[in-house]
Amino acid sequence: MEGARGPRSGELFARATRVIPGGVNSPVRAFKAVGGTPVFVAAGKGAWIEDVDGNRYVDWVQSWGALLLGHAHPRVLAAARAAAERGTTFGAPTESEVLLAEKISSFLPGVEMLRLVSSGTEAVMSAVRLARGFTGRQKVVKFAGCYHGHADGFLVAAGSGAAAGGVPDSAGVPPPVAAETVVLPYNDTQSVKELFSAMGGEVACVVVEPVAANMGLIPPEPGFLETLREKTEEYGALLIFDEVITGFRVGRPGAQGLLGIHPDLTCLGKVIGGGFPLAAFGGRRDVMSLLAPEGPVYQAGTLSGNPVAVAAGLAVLEVVEEDPGLYSRLEGLASALARGLEEAFLAAGIPARVQRYSTLLSVFFTASPVRNFEDARAADRRLYSRFFHAMLARGIYLPPSPLEAVFPSAAHGEEELELTLEAARAAAWELKASS
Ligand code: PLP
Repeated sequence: MEGARGPRSGELFARATRVIPGGVNSPVRAFKAVGGTPVFVAAGKGAWIEDVDGNRYVDWVQSWGALLLGHAHPRVLAAARAAAERGTTFGAPTESEVLLAEKISSFLPGVEMLRLVSSGTEAVMSAVRLARGFTGRQKVVKFAGCYHGHADGFLVAAGSGAAAGGVPDSAGVPPPVAAETVVLPYNDTQSVKELFSAMGGEVACVVVEPVAANMGLIPPEPGFLETLREKTEEYGALLIFDEVITGFRVGRPGAQGLLGIHPDLTCLGKVIGGGFPLAAFGGRRDVMSLLAPEGPVYQAGTLSGNPVAVAAGLAVLEVVEEDPGLYSRLEGLASALARGLEEAFLAAGIPARVQRYSTLLSVFFTASPVRNFEDARAADRRLYSRFFHAMLARGIYLPPSPLEAVFPSAAHGEEELELTLEAARAAAWELKASS
């Protein structure tokens, strides 16, 4: 049987499928895109995870990017433990929420005000409601293959698990809701211009992953984000950067700082929760001031700004602040990994591209550049599945889908890099031999 090594994962998966739909609490975990039985994780430390059968793996998923510092980082654990001992939730304001909001705002100058929520889905959903409230318009523009969580209006040509499972358009989304979402191809500047000429006055907002990381890794081409900024400004629509993945991942100033394009609103998640359920949306003061209780756009949450999650997030951002070399080390690692993988495929004569932006990368089994969702889906997914399983069997845990990114963490070092590249060289020859 492919996938999990040992009987316990299989036994748990069989039990799970009886009480949890598909056996998992988020679709991409089910290995549907690569086949086989998912690995049930028992523990994680730094760059490594251990499964319920006692196998250890170098983990390049890191909870889909939530863990910038690796699993069970001592400082994050200490902060969360200390917070939990003071009480796990109050449903009343706390000092640490102010500290976290101030810190995020100091790193991202365009985020003048922000609100904390519990998931990336909630962050983007709320940002869009706010954009509609601010502009008095309905239409939302998104790009095929970008994933913005599972709010109804975003399950149209969505990337990540929605695409990997072969259900780019979910059942249960009312057609009138989907009709308010306009989908354009990523990196297609011309179609953005045409859309705005045709109906710019109806657009409330354009939502985009400034570096796309949910259809594999696809960087923005020069001019694409600039056009989004120009056209939204010209037509009075808001530009929303979904930096749930890229925020504090590609660098301290986010993709917006590295690329020098400043959105009206920014959505954050993953890294800022230090591995706990926490996300945020924020931006221009005049827009954010429309939120209840100041203004008419309602948004709320019992566990929003949860003190344990906030303490963990603050601990991560303190490390980011104290260690100015962190992102250049991470980028060095990502670059060495990308180069080593490319060399492994080249040596074995397998057409593959490793696309990278800063600290994020992904492998596409194709000889052509991948600029958008259509290109990403045209890459050889069957080959990715075989590569994934060949790596898993060698103790390397890659994303169980070709449409996701690889997430190096600060806990990955030379040892993990070497083990991964050694496995990749062997896996590449194995693929070649059996093709
Ligand atoms: N936006 C982006 C860019 C994401 O990658 C994700 C999740 O992967 C989300 C939003 C949704 O976040 P969550 O899974 O926390 O709801």
